[in-house]
Amino acid sequence: MKILLLHVDYIRFKPLKKALKNIKELKESEKQEKEVKEALAVMTAVEKFDSNVEEVVKKLVSEIKDVAEKINVKNIVLYPYAHLSKELSSPEQAIKVLEAAEKELKKDFEVVKAPFGYYKEFELKVKGHPLSELSREIIIKGDEEEYDPKQLLKEISKSKLDTSKLKENDHRIIGQQMDLFSFNETAPGMVFWHNNGLIIYNELIKFWREIHKKEGYQEIKTPQILDSKLWKISGHWRLYKENMFLTHYENREFAIKPMNCPGGMLVYKSSPKSYKDLPLRVGEIGVVHRQELSGVLGGLFRVIQFTQDDAHIFCTEEQLEDEIIGVIKLIKKILDKFDFKNYRFTLSVRSEDKKEKYLGDDRIWNLTEGAIKNAAKKIGIKFDISPGEAKFYGPSFDVQITDSLGREWQCSTIQLDMQLPERFELEYTDKDNKKKTPIMLHRVVYGSLERFIGVLLEHTNGWLPTWLAPIQVRVINFTDRNLEKAKEVLEAIREKIPEIRIDSDFEQKTVQSKVKDASLKRIPYVIVIGDNEEKQGTLAVRIRGKKDIQSFKLEEFIEKLKSEIEERA
Ligand code: ZN
Repeated sequence: MKILLLHVDYIRFKPLKKALKNIKELKESEKQEKEVKEALAVMTAVEKFDSNVEEVVKKLVSEIKDVAEKINVKNIVLYPYAHLSKELSSPEQAIKVLEAAEKELKKDFEVVKAPFGYYKEFELKVKGHPLSELSREIIIKGDEEEYDPKQLLKEISKSKLDTSKLKENDHRIIGQQMDLFSFNETAPGMVFWHNNGLIIYNELIKFWREIHKKEGYQEIKTPQILDSKLWKISGHWRLYKENMFLTHYENREFAIKPMNCPGGMLVYKSSPKSYKDLPLRVGEIGVVHRQELSGVLGGLFRVIQFTQDDAHIFCTEEQLEDEIIGVIKLIKKILDKFDFKNYRFTLSVRSEDKKEKYLGDDRIWNLTEGAIKNAAKKIGIKFDISPGEAKFYGPSFDVQITDSLGREWQCSTIQLDMQLPERFELEYTDKDNKKKTPIMLHRVVYGSLERFIGVLLEHTNGWLPTWLAPIQVRVINFTDRNLEKAKEVLEAIREKIPEIRIDSDFEQKTVQSKVKDASLKRIPYVIVIGDNEEKQGTLAVRIRGKKDIQSFKLEEFIEKLKSEIEERA
């Protein structure tokens, strides 16, 4: 049920004619114009969900009483007003609710009820105080819908990965073999990270944080769900609403964030800024949700929920070029860790003949496009130009990486934005004491962590560098005779490298099957301890699933492992 509560100086109404067929005739007295002064006019629309009349009336009366007491009125006018809802109940049900409410309210108030089912003319004068206009929604939980948990469980358990149509190195197969993640139809396009997968995810973030800290970035975290007001300010409400997940809270409309920018703008605005604060580099590892058709979802490549390694840089026009240089260098520094064959840069600019599609004047477009070109020239990188591909708010500089299978992926991007800072009225005080609007850069390096992990898995066929491998070392005993020695080796490594992700396979299986399992899990180092190794005091190490075995002294192996992990080699 929806109601609108109006504190009025007066309300006058007069029934004109029937609006519904089977409505009873009014008595002569009811046909006359009525006026009530100093009243709380309650405009009501009973809805089809209001089947629990008793509960609805109880809540309705309590809402009315609550407001009436606050504004201290004695007169209540119950006024049927169908325009409040598009989901009206049957007239019978509405009459039932209104009659019961009238009876209940009459115990404490003077109640006048406007006739239901009639066209009426009315006039009222609403008072000006803050409580004079309140709208409320009355929601009563219906009877619990019938369902069978066992049956539902069967339905959702069906969502098993069908590998029959996937190629061998599909990251979904690798992910299953390495026990990294899974999907379930109850959360389409959203990853359930298992322990092993979360290790990769967290290691990537750790690496990212280290580099960004060195480069003078701060890090923030903004809420997941934000009032629609914010998205109206940012412009997403108009341009992007269909792709957003919406939700409600206390009669307010909220959106689950599809991007981090608006939250970041509010953090910028939370304190006054001066030119001394710029350039201001603010990172956020933000989880975002964007609606995608379920048909296009595919493993980690196309998801609904993903993690952006976002950052916004606020700077002056003079600082822009250096900031772009800084970001490109940082992108290279991070991507070079992953041994991608090569990558390609593209500058997306406006199309010359459709300039009206883009916001902002020529001067600022020329300035920002020029800054990117100069920055690229200064650090000696080539780029393609892609006319007409700029965002409506500014040019962008994108990185396509080529993986081991020759496919191109867009991960990193730098986007200049002249619009959001203006929409949010961001400002800083310049040297001349004038308020100015900063230029803003949006940028990501991994892009989506989920997709980056997917690309990385296929690029390496799961053989990640040791620092990223969920299990870095596994110790295997040749026979039961070697169990004690194998345990000793494991403990020695763990003691020297406390952070090491090491495990063991001491089951009574053949060495071949243990090695095969370790290989399926893509464990980079598998140490086998047999009689020979015990006798000679060495380790037989199988590296990255390769056939040939290398022999190491324990200390020597620990040193190699330690430096490999520390240097993220
Ligand atoms: Zn942004």
